[in-house]
Amino acid sequence: MTSLFPHKKAKALKPNSRRPAKELCSECGLCDTYYIHYVKEACAFITQQIDTLEEQAHQRSRNLDHPDELYFGVHQDMIAARKQQPIPGAQWTGIVSSIAIEMLNRGLVEGVVCVQNSKEDRFQPMPVIARTPEEILAARVNKPTLSPNLSILEQVEKSGMKRLLVIGVGCQIQALRAVEKKLGLEKLYVLGTPCVDNVTRAGLQKFLETTSRSPQTVVHYEFMQDFRIHFTHEDGSIEKVPFFGLKTNQLKDVFAPSCMSCFDYVNSLADLVVGYMGAPFGWQWILVRNNTGKEMLDLVQDQLDTQPVMSQGNRQEAVQQGISAYDKGVTLPMWVAKMMGVVIDKIGPKGLEYARFSIDSHFTRNYLFVKRNHPEKLEAHVPEFAKRIVGQYKLPE
Ligand code: FAD
Ligand code: SF4
Ligand code: SF4
Repeated sequence: MTSLFPHKKAKALKPNSRRPAKELCSECGLCDTYYIHYVKEACAFITQQIDTLEEQAHQRSRNLDHPDELYFGVHQDMIAARKQQPIPGAQWTGIVSSIAIEMLNRGLVEGVVCVQNSKEDRFQPMPVIARTPEEILAARVNKPTLSPNLSILEQVEKSGMKRLLVIGVGCQIQALRAVEKKLGLEKLYVLGTPCVDNVTRAGLQKFLETTSRSPQTVVHYEFMQDFRIHFTHEDGSIEKVPFFGLKTNQLKDVFAPSCMSCFDYVNSLADLVVGYMGAPFGWQWILVRNNTGKEMLDLVQDQLDTQPVMSQGNRQEAVQQGISAYDKGVTLPMWVAKMMGVVIDKIGPKGLEYARFSIDSHFTRNYLFVKRNHPEKLEAHVPEFAKRIVGQYKLPE
């Protein structure tokens, strides 16, 4: 008789052994468990199948002829929101942590997969299954490094939990959706964030050292809509560095190869996505992908201020110019960079147009990376929506 759980016979890989996706591995954690049995179908870097998994998760794949769906994926609603009382120390206003806490408090789920940091290092990710609001709060704020969130999947099965919330980024969620039916759950909720330009822990160190005036005191950073990186330091001070002044020549290979080949910026397979880039400064941007996502957002509606999303400006010329500047590794002197940042902030893309600016800039860069480094993967690995987005621009060879 064949076993219902063939994966239980598989063996997790040892921590430092080479992963099946080789240099493209984003350390999502699947291969740290016996679910490695399914790696060929599940790994985002071995089998790209976003459209099939969209059908599984949302009952349809995105409408490529609908301009917003082409960019942001399947959704039934999109709003800007912020918590009336932000959670101190959260990445933005803490909408993600608040939804997770509400779901646990109301008994919708028995546990929440999220990522805390290790005691020794505030940026070292430590995935956990949180079972109390305190444990969820301890996972607030981004760990801006690759994080093996799925490494706790064996623990989920062993715990006997039947109702689970998983918080994660696109590559983790793609692998999760691919093995969802094997987890023995009654209900899985998926709360995603957008994600881009992630790094290994060593890469993060290099990025901080090349970019910030005081790398050792950074507690939080974000690439903001005002075209500057905002570093928050331990003493609460905020340092702003213009994107255009980044030392692109030194930073070219700081981002992980997985993230240079990633086209799931907006977390296509989550039920609900909470980011910031499609919203006015200070607000968060929410995509409700399906009815499960709506159920999750409804739990915190009374804690939120909301407003409709807006869009302003025209990104295309800036994207086209950025493509060749990045390719040539141009670094502008800091004063020019600051001035450009101010000008672009006044007349540049805002709201959804800023989100499109960021998606276009990253997809064109990543398309070139795959074409140059893994040409044999280009056709199957780049999803159709990304091919259409990249097709709007003239790319160097
Ligand atoms: P909080 O309440 O602070 O909760 C944050 C949650 O994120 C926690 O539950 C934690 O478990 C989870 N988390 C933290 N680090 C990781 C990780 N490495 N992998 C998986 N889960 C993690 N949004 C955009 O709109 N545009 C972007 O370009 C963008 N880039 C991002 C890059 C990275 C590497 C990450 C992790 C997130 C990115 N986001 C981006 C999402 C955004 O920064 C916020 O995380 C999101 O808006 C939620 O904010 P919050 O205050 O509600 O979260
Ligand atoms: Fe395994 Fe995940 Fe790495 Fe793919 S990305 S090889 S599934 S750990
Ligand atoms: Fe994963 Fe893509 Fe984020 Fe890299 S950029 S961690 S591959 S979702």
